[in-house]
Amino acid sequence: MMKKIVVIPGDGIGGEITRSAVEVLKKTDEKFRLGLSYEEHDAGGTAYDKFGTPLPESTLEACKQADAVLFGAVGGEKWDNVEPSLRPEKAILGLRKGLGLYANLRPVKVADALVEYSPLKPELVKGVDLVIVRELVGGIYFGDRCESEQHNGAERAWDLENYSVPEVERIAKLAFETAKVRRGKVTSVDKANVLATSRLWRRTVTKLAGEHKDVELNHLYVDNCAMQLAVRPTQFDVIVTGNLFGDILSDEAAVIGGSIGLMPSASIGELTSLYEPIHGSAPDIAGKGIANPMGTILSAAMLLRYSLGLEKEADALDAAVSAALDAGLRTADIAGKGDVSLSTQQMGQAIRSRLC
Ligand code: NAD
Repeated sequence: MMKKIVVIPGDGIGGEITRSAVEVLKKTDEKFRLGLSYEEHDAGGTAYDKFGTPLPESTLEACKQADAVLFGAVGGEKWDNVEPSLRPEKAILGLRKGLGLYANLRPVKVADALVEYSPLKPELVKGVDLVIVRELVGGIYFGDRCESEQHNGAERAWDLENYSVPEVERIAKLAFETAKVRRGKVTSVDKANVLATSRLWRRTVTKLAGEHKDVELNHLYVDNCAMQLAVRPTQFDVIVTGNLFGDILSDEAAVIGGSIGLMPSASIGELTSLYEPIHGSAPDIAGKGIANPMGTILSAAMLLRYSLGLEKEADALDAAVSAALDAGLRTADIAGKGDVSLSTQQMGQAIRSRLC
């Protein structure tokens, strides 16, 4: 049975990095005989230019029919003045909603070869290997809101945070299962000393832990977690948290790794899951052929692992990226003084040649 992967290059460097990742996937397929097929679709500004919408119905439909989606990035100055509901970034929200992408997984693993690129001291980041599991379709980002109203003679605005027990159970279950195939530790992050939604979150996660006794659970307030990520990031294995806290903590954790060009992510869906690097379309370097493809290639490894259950093949891809880094190969964003910077294509080729 062929496995269908929908590839959405998007805008800016999206085409360059997804091309590189697909070439690596093709090489993996050649080696392990996986039977992968690819179908390219438009989204973002490119889709707006062609179809007048950032997320054509045909793209969403193709994603729903696919086994997995590999996404580049969308956005760019060219579309800054487009009506807000048609801006390229709306494609991401449309895909989240259309595919029911309820969880975002962001691994942060600092390769020994790159510890000096972290803004933190090398001795703090050596050995960091954590995953943030963020709830993606609930909480304050999707609650009711009021842009402006009069209250006691003053203008005010408000946003409503709410979480239901099934929503928390679904994301917590994913976190416990993720921890089981890692180091068996979940840190649940909330603000239970202040917020009612956080107290429900904490009660629900604690109750569910009873069904996952092989996983150790601890709780942290979000302010403390933000601090701990900067002072002792190696203590974390799996962090599970709500939409708003996850948005902030995952960006904080991402910088620990040095360059955003290296960071992959997976958005787990009810229908299909979507895999993308965490960075944007990098208009400042688009078309120059110098973007780091590693975040996208590592996202492709997550695709093999989570959507296709191909653990061995995903490990091989992760190992090929590590081997390229260990060999001192660098793209411009991670090149030190005196290092030769490889192009996107050269780095892709170097990773392909290290697949074993
Ligand atoms: P960005 O992540 O695109 O770029 C930030 C900086 O990181 C830039 O200097 C860029 O050159 C560099 N960079 C990013 N990816 C890189 C890579 N693979 N290799 C080397 N360097 C890399 O963020 P931005 O500049 O704030 O946003 C640009 C556009 O991307 C905006 O339109 C924004 O809305 C959009 N965006 C899209 C997504 C997405 O598609 N998921 C995410 C974030 C931002």
